[in-house]
Amino acid sequence: TEFSKLGLNDALAYSVAEKGYESPTPIQAQAIPQVLAGRDVIGSAQTGTGKTAAFALPILQRLGAHGKMRCLVLEPTRELALQVEEAFQMYSKYTDLTTTIVYGGVGYGKQREDLRRGVDVCAATPGRLLDLLEDGSTHLNDIEIVVLDEVDRMLDMGFLPDVRRIVEKCPRSRQTLFFTATLPPEIASLADWALTNPVEVKI
Ligand code: AMP
Repeated sequence: TEFSKLGLNDALAYSVAEKGYESPTPIQAQAIPQVLAGRDVIGSAQTGTGKTAAFALPILQRLGAHGKMRCLVLEPTRELALQVEEAFQMYSKYTDLTTTIVYGGVGYGKQREDLRRGVDVCAATPGRLLDLLEDGSTHLNDIEIVVLDEVDRMLDMGFLPDVRRIVEKCPRSRQTLFFTATLPPEIASLADWALTNPVEVKI
């Protein structure tokens, strides 16, 4: 398939075909080979462009299943975190990878349990994740890939200080993917700080 040509393995190409995607969107065509190659990426793509698959598919290929949290996706809202986790679940259908979600406004019990059981990918909103880091329910020592998604919305919601605190807890040798529709100075400086020699993808 056209997705295999971008370098995706059969398990992922199969789940995508099953979803009915015929060809990659422009952001997918640009981002997937770069993420597979291990590059940091800064992308200016909005929701509706196929952005989620542009990072989720190559991330799932790069992670083997170990049950250690190795990919963290930060989202500004519970709704977005839910959508992204659903996408990861769907695309990982034919792999052994496990995913979970962490967000505020609900009890801590189930999220603590899920984290303790071990997951490969976690989609989270910043405040609740910080709570769970501070009480020792989880840690970010094994993180290999961090996705900072909808960073402009995280700025609007006042989350950038929390985002920095979270990224500081991740290993420096990580791969970082950064998505924002706009690049005001606060966001540019966060990108400068968080990314290493990033490639830019735009649509
Ligand atoms: P997103 O921009 O990630 O929110 O994705 C928007 C919608 O496009 C989602 O419902 C995806 O399932 C769908 N989508 C993503 N990639 C493709 C593709 N290559 N072909 C058709 N639909 C897609």
